[in-house]
Amino acid sequence: MAEPIEETVSAPAADPQHVDTLSDGTKVKIRLVRQRACNEKDDKGKICAGHLKRWYFFGEEVRRKYGPEAEIYRCEHCKTLYLPNPQETPRSGTLAW
Ligand SMILES: [Zn+2]
Repeated sequence: MAEPIEETVSAPAADPQHVDTLSDGTKVKIRLVRQRACNEKDDKGKICAGHLKRWYFFGEEVRRKYGPEAEIYRCEHCKTLYLPNPQETPRSGTLAW
């Protein structure tokens, strides 16, 4: 008997934003410039579109990798983590002290 051929699931295209995966499986991505909504796709290829919110409650692993003051955003829907885009320099006056 032949094994079923993988026909629907081809290797997912490498996501250039995807930079890391935590030990619990959480994806870590770099935000696109001015990205406000999650662009993760589910198994059906539907865009998540959850809001990316600044997140302060990351655990030890994130702290170790990105520092205790890391600027981390998290999709409120699928919990994917996003790092700020390095090209997107914070405007002076906003979120600065
Ligand atoms: Zn999401």
